[in-house]
Amino acid sequence: MLETDFHTYIYALHAVLITSTASILLVIFSLQNRELPVASIRLFKLFFLFAIISWTLLAARDLYGPTHKFLPPGTGYIISSFLLLIAVKQCSDDLKKIAFIAGLHIIPIYAIFHAEGAFQHILVGSIYALFVYPIIFYASLKRAIKLKNIGSGLIALSALVIVITAPIQLYLAYEFNSLRTAYTIAFTATTTSFILVSIGFLTSILIHDHRQLLDLALNDPLTGVLNRRGLTKALPIILSTTEVQQTLLNVISVDIDYFKQVNDSYGHKVGDAVLIEVAKVLQETSRQGDLVARIGGEEFVLILPSLTLDVTKDIAERIRHKIESTPIQFPECDIQVTASFGIASASGRINFDTLLKEADKMLYQAKNNGRNCICCQENLDMA
Ligand code: GH3
Ligand code: MG
Ligand code: MG
Repeated sequence: MLETDFHTYIYALHAVLITSTASILLVIFSLQNRELPVASIRLFKLFFLFAIISWTLLAARDLYGPTHKFLPPGTGYIISSFLLLIAVKQCSDDLKKIAFIAGLHIIPIYAIFHAEGAFQHILVGSIYALFVYPIIFYASLKRAIKLKNIGSGLIALSALVIVITAPIQLYLAYEFNSLRTAYTIAFTATTTSFILVSIGFLTSILIHDHRQLLDLALNDPLTGVLNRRGLTKALPIILSTTEVQQTLLNVISVDIDYFKQVNDSYGHKVGDAVLIEVAKVLQETSRQGDLVARIGGEEFVLILPSLTLDVTKDIAERIRHKIESTPIQFPECDIQVTASFGIASASGRINFDTLLKEADKMLYQAKNNGRNCICCQENLDMA
């Protein structure tokens, strides 16, 4: 086996920690200049900035001995834990909360400055960890579950490493007087936890960005409903379910009446607000499993699987009435719009484009019938 000085491993580890933290900081600085900033990124930046200072000081201490007096062992750990805590608690805009948590941290920092000898350092560090890291664990886990983001899950895991090892360090130090082992565990736990936070943070950014891009690609940015591409992607499941279950697929085409006049009279911004409100009505009326999409300027489509035609007509009527009777409020005036509806239904093996064309034909008929009304095509024969 290759004989290597133990210190070589330690120096290599420091080099890895410092260069990887520097790379993460580089990534964070480049991310800050883009259009989609991730919440809490500023606090994580502080965390990693402080981490690189701490790792460098630690490396300097291992190389040259205890040269720096302003950061006794444990202080760096408490400060970086504080930064991680406020980052995972997403306090970036809540200065009062940050000040409160910082205020509480005076206690462990005071204790660590007055701790004498390695035993007391381990005691203060472990008790502090047992207070703070369960909070970091809980907040990250909650976030991971809520956002379904494995990155936050890794950050929770990093906190769990500390929560599990803190009592072990105490036990080893006090029960077996084994300071060296306690220190080894502390160092291993903090570096492992730090690497997990780093990977977790980068992963959560990747997942967040991927979702944002997917959202931009599949949803209409103005109204939040599906766009044409999103509709095309979501359709196959509905079509195959309809075919297998032998149920009816209903399509409602919705077009706002005289929308050009709204734009001409009140401006494009007001027109946009009207589109948002109409989309909201459509979304509020739809069930889980229905699809709402904006497929043209002021044309929407609502896809309702597994409903009878009568129920579909009732739903269209409810939407028509809601749009007609809900004034959209603006500071200068209230605007009332109406919409026309075309319904087409089919069952079996459905060609969606044909079904949509039929719904559009019905919509055209509704426009010809005077608008603000519904026209309906009976069960379409797709054969
Ligand atoms: P009809 O009752 O026959 O449907 O008449 P209309 O005026 O609603 O229909 P037309 O097709 O003549 O006009 C649609 C208008 O929708 C024209 C266009 O300026 C407007 N439009 C399309 N997309 C947007 C958008 O994203 N925002 C706004 N504010 N207006 C839009
Ligand atoms: Mg229109
Ligand atoms: Mg139109």
